[in-house]
Amino acid sequence: MKTIINSPKVYLIGAGPGNPELITVKAVKAIAEADIILCDRLVSPEILEAYVNPNAKVIYVGKECSKSASTPQSHINTLMVEYARQNKTIARLKGGDVSIFSNILDELQALKENHIPYEIIPGITAALGAAAYAGMPLTARGYSTSVRFLTYYKSDILNEDYWKELAGTNDTLVFYMSKGNLTSLVEKFLQLEISGDKKIAIVEQATTPYQKVYTSSFETFNAAFGHKTFASPSLVIVGTIVTLHEEFSWLENTEKEGLYFKSVENGSLVPKNQNFFEYAV
Ligand code: SAH
Repeated sequence: MKTIINSPKVYLIGAGPGNPELITVKAVKAIAEADIILCDRLVSPEILEAYVNPNAKVIYVGKECSKSASTPQSHINTLMVEYARQNKTIARLKGGDVSIFSNILDELQALKENHIPYEIIPGITAALGAAAYAGMPLTARGYSTSVRFLTYYKSDILNEDYWKELAGTNDTLVFYMSKGNLTSLVEKFLQLEISGDKKIAIVEQATTPYQKVYTSSFETFNAAFGHKTFASPSLVIVGTIVTLHEEFSWLENTEKEGLYFKSVENGSLVPKNQNFFEYAV
């Protein structure tokens, strides 16, 4: 138990893409210091087991895109504010980096409105973890001079002009939260006659022991993967750099099947100790 009374503080922490060693030293220190951990689904369970103070309370506030198990954002904000009012130190843990496809803005606004001090600790976003662990440099010289982080989680998110631009660009394109709309994504690029040099890669559960990388041309994608359901989470990478995977990949696709991240549905939400988590869903 802590003997000193804390002043409240919220650490907004990027916990990295999966592998529990891909987290910053600063994040580890903040997690160890925290009384309350508010944790997303895409945070390595091994990070919680290794670094959380045994007296801390871990509250799972995971969201799963399009699934019923989800904590309303307003509830997460309320939890942060209420615990801060009790002078607790709070670690708000998110998968990857906190500023990429996360609701950090809502949380920052809630903290600011309530005059609660905070610190933002960056993490390795999934695109960078996947690129490294699949041997695909995102801006490899001679291949691409830019990279874009996008999402196509719902069909009206990108307008037709933007699709045209995407089909024509030499930038590497990384799509988050888009595995559910892959057929449509591939169809769009085919209709817009994307160049044959550009390939598509799906990286499942990047940096975890379950990582698998699948690559294909756009022409052959549907025949090869049209009926496949990719594991969650998966990242979609498009560009000429995908061809580098064959040459520079340093990890074999594992034979192992399974899901690394906790989920209400796969029944592995509570890793070890049943009392460890309190459900906020
Ligand atoms: N803040 C996170 C992204 C949250 S959005 C980050 O910076 O990485 C959630 C999406 O991220 C998933 O749908 C998936 O597309 C991607 N993602 C997160 N972790 C991943 C992983 N280990 N492997 C593949 N994709 C991942």
